[in-house]
Amino acid sequence: MKTELISLNLSELEALVQKLGQPKFRGKQIYEWLYKGAESFDDMKNLPKDLRQKLSEEADIGTVKISEKFVSKIDETRKYLLQLKDGNYVEAVLMKYEYGYTICISTQVGCKMGCKFCASTIGGKERDLTAGELLSQIICVQKDLGQRISNIVMMGIGEPLDNFDNVLKFIELVNAPGGLNIGQRHISLSTCGLVDKMRDLADRQLQITLLISLHAPNNEKRSAIMPINKKYSIEEVLSACDYYIEKTGRRISFEYTLISGVNDSVTEADELATLLCGKLCHVNLIPVNKVEETGFEKGDKARIEAFRKQLEKRGIQATVRREMGSDINAACGQLRKKKNIELQNGE
Ligand code: SAH
Repeated sequence: MKTELISLNLSELEALVQKLGQPKFRGKQIYEWLYKGAESFDDMKNLPKDLRQKLSEEADIGTVKISEKFVSKIDETRKYLLQLKDGNYVEAVLMKYEYGYTICISTQVGCKMGCKFCASTIGGKERDLTAGELLSQIICVQKDLGQRISNIVMMGIGEPLDNFDNVLKFIELVNAPGGLNIGQRHISLSTCGLVDKMRDLADRQLQITLLISLHAPNNEKRSAIMPINKKYSIEEVLSACDYYIEKTGRRISFEYTLISGVNDSVTEADELATLLCGKLCHVNLIPVNKVEETGFEKGDKARIEAFRKQLEKRGIQATVRREMGSDINAACGQLRKKKNIELQNGE
């Protein structure tokens, strides 16, 4: 196995070039090329030819490549289908807000969590992404955009806490001052609620924002749409949330995908309010994106607003997520799924 350079931090790169009999500063030069989005050793013009040769024998750069790009005419949201070194695909989405650009990245090729409404989990999990592949999604999209990306959400394909070590290494890489220099408070991680990993994360006392995919107000309904709930109940998830808040002082956000007739009645809003009462939290309501295979649909505007109002009445802060890039609509995991079907059909 060749070393994947994009997964290394600056001191690891310096150690690597020194092992190859080169001065330490060459490590810094390679580091700078990687963060500029260099895709081959030939791009690294200030490195001696023999070092470039040696590197290409011992190492891979490990970056992702843009396979397809869709740009919204409404709000400039961009969706990217990205190809990995081994031919697999993942997705990233770039959104423009007043305060800057936010990228939503994938953390695994596929997902094994099996949520019933989600396209990413159809076909299961292929593999974890490396720390470098997580990082490379940002560098690659930033290069394409020509502007700095200031916020990251791990909310694309995959379950980030099921790829724990690589995600931690990625956060370290993203934080590094000479690299992307994105602070922990600008990084969010969304999980379906892997309780032991949530507690482990809390113990590390990072300042990242934790988002919990809740999607139902009781265990019976949650288990019906999220199989992980059979392993970790709502009570266990909420207790891990309390632990996270206690350890980090950070507010937690809950995501609640509204599915018509499944979890979006006013009674369910009330039950949710009771569940979250007194917690330092915020609720993001997400009208479900239609995925052909699932048959789930979103309710109309009035139904969604009634749900939100009920939470508000009970003192729970909630916002309905603004739909971004509706003209290039492809819910998380759909581009990859479409590409895989095309490949299977030999198109
Ligand atoms: N595995 C992580 C992160 C990826 S999913 C998690 O579960 O949180 C990112 C968010 O999108 C989750 O809240 C997920 O439940 C939601 N989601 C997945 N499919 C969706 C769909 N079809 N419509 C709306 N939200 C969806």
